[in-house]
Amino acid sequence: MGLLPLARTAVDRGSDRRVAADLFETIRADGATRVMYLAGGRALVRDNALVLLEPPAAGFGDVPVYLGRTLEDAQVPLGTDVVLVTLPEPDPGLAVGGGAWMSLRECATHLGALDAGLFVEAAAVANWHAVHTHCPRCGAPTVPEQGGWVRRCPEDGSSHFPRTDPAVIVAVIDEQDRILLGSAAAWAGNRYSTLAGFVEPGESLEAAVIREVAEESGVVVHTPQYLGSQPWPFPCSLMLGFTARAGNTDARADGVEMSDVRWFSRAELAEAVSSGEITIAGPISIARNLIERWYGGTIIEPEANARA
Ligand SMILES: [Zn+2]
Repeated sequence: MGLLPLARTAVDRGSDRRVAADLFETIRADGATRVMYLAGGRALVRDNALVLLEPPAAGFGDVPVYLGRTLEDAQVPLGTDVVLVTLPEPDPGLAVGGGAWMSLRECATHLGALDAGLFVEAAAVANWHAVHTHCPRCGAPTVPEQGGWVRRCPEDGSSHFPRTDPAVIVAVIDEQDRILLGSAAAWAGNRYSTLAGFVEPGESLEAAVIREVAEESGVVVHTPQYLGSQPWPFPCSLMLGFTARAGNTDARADGVEMSDVRWFSRAELAEAVSSGEITIAGPISIARNLIERWYGGTIIEPEANARA
């Protein structure tokens, strides 16, 4: 599997620089520093590029995050420090030079590697800050430290680090080289995708693959093979892509999480998608990449169903 859309990056996160106590003062004084703003998961985008602005005179706000230093000569020079500032809502004043506030899903496949990497990093760490404001041990409000990559409890001194939830996603293939796709009960329309689920505490990735497929479809798989990963900051997942061979083909939906599970040959899938009978996940997703890896090429969708 090639490099996935959200796995692209061109940022040196600079963990060594995060520890400097005067990090934000130093880089705010540097006119070359740029700020990425995020509001409700949306960033300012213009001409398929993030709008990165000069540091505000008033400072970076309560929870700035040091995203790192650019490793690509793009709209900013190589080596530019970039700081994330999260706003409660989009500020129209920031868009005076043009651009629109866009979600990662809307724009990711149109962004270059630098901007995609910055956006994914920013979204993931901002989502963590948003729901980890208090100490899980004693309940006291925590204080961001180390460039926004640690929150410390002033009461008991404990340090808390950003969380990522691993989830496995699996292309299950049978002896006739068909793929198993499922339609989740929660999804609108006839959308089908590869089976997926969160890794549970104390579980290996391989065990999670076997358990999730059995739970959702009744199919017992063997020899899970890892193919690749990409962060999925909606809000804080890491998707780990696998393929696995089916030991049986009598798939049935659990009726709770999944409303249907179904085997597709290549011809059947192409026909179901092109006719509009079903929709599949968009190009940004690892699901689409797993399906097309099995399919052996791009799957053409009717215009009306094509999504980013
Ligand atoms: Zn505490």
